[in-house]
Amino acid sequence: MGQDPAAGRQGGHAGTNLFGLTPAEIEELFLASGHARFHARQLAQWMYRRRAGNFESMTDLSRSLRAELSTRFRIARPEVVQRHDSPGGEAAKYLFELEDGRRIESVLLRNKQRHTICISSQAGCALACTFCATGRIGLLRDLTPGEIAGQIAEIGPVLPLEAPAFNIVFMGMGEPLDNYDNVLKAIRLLADPESFNISTRRITVSTSGFVPQIRMLAGEGLHVGLAISLNATTDRLRSELMPINRRYPIRTLVEAARHYAERTGRRVTIEYVLLAGLNDSPEDAARLAKIARSLPAKVNLLRFNPFEGAPYSSPVPEAIDAFARLLLPSAPAVTVRQSRGEDIMAACGQLVAGQPMRPLRRRGADIA
Ligand code: SF4
Repeated sequence: MGQDPAAGRQGGHAGTNLFGLTPAEIEELFLASGHARFHARQLAQWMYRRRAGNFESMTDLSRSLRAELSTRFRIARPEVVQRHDSPGGEAAKYLFELEDGRRIESVLLRNKQRHTICISSQAGCALACTFCATGRIGLLRDLTPGEIAGQIAEIGPVLPLEAPAFNIVFMGMGEPLDNYDNVLKAIRLLADPESFNISTRRITVSTSGFVPQIRMLAGEGLHVGLAISLNATTDRLRSELMPINRRYPIRTLVEAARHYAERTGRRVTIEYVLLAGLNDSPEDAARLAKIARSLPAKVNLLRFNPFEGAPYSSPVPEAIDAFARLLLPSAPAVTVRQSRGEDIMAACGQLVAGQPMRPLRRRGADIA
């Protein structure tokens, strides 16, 4: 290793942060400083599989080695400063503080079939989708691989990580493909058999439509799931809801999604947030079905989750059912995702981690 990949990442803290380094990188660090290879493996197992937060608890390392390690290295991962549980217990929202004081949120969703951990890839988000509270914060900074994987290390202990009904989705704060290198490294760390050992088939990356990065991801050999956040069937409306559409319009996004499905053999998920009176007409349903049929895809319909100052509302449940019924005969697969966590502001598009939101601007005018 020419350069220490963790050194200096967080200024003002003594020692290199080992959390976020791959087992191979830790091994290189250890070998370079005269430590045995197998000690590096032991340490990685403690940190990632057993989620030890300090060297003292690594009891199969000698006392003198633990003392030496704590003078040269540190284990720093996001710290849970608050946890909110929904009254029914189906959702828990975690507020994390990072070493520089920035705050992010992650959500654990539970139901009988499956647990899902929804993690953040950035503090805030630059993309300013108008139906999303996170977009109203702006981008504060990218998360490091350790800060991304650290969310799993903190939330994971409440779950059996080996249980088959367990998924990780990049649908928290931020656009994961706008922080491509760090997200990719975090996925590789989560999947590493010497580390968390989580199958990439349980991991889904959800994007607002970073077309070049979708194509790059298709070639990484990772086979993670891909979800595209579509939300409109015309470029006019999509550009209004999601400014990224001006750079990568629907046609190029769908082509990239098709390429991804072909390269990975995985069906893409089309996420579609229903906004009353805007994108829920029978014509929208027909266009959405056509897009879904052109891909190996399933459609996931979501209710809009309101937040302070949001200029939209969700269709009533009957209207959502009617929209799904219009899609069903001609779209390949349709699910209506039950919104969970809305009562604790933990649902999709509601995460702000206590940061102030900017007023919403649309077509040059304040509408918040
Ligand atoms: Fe960012 Fe996703 Fe929110 Fe859009 S929907 S502003 S990409 S976090």
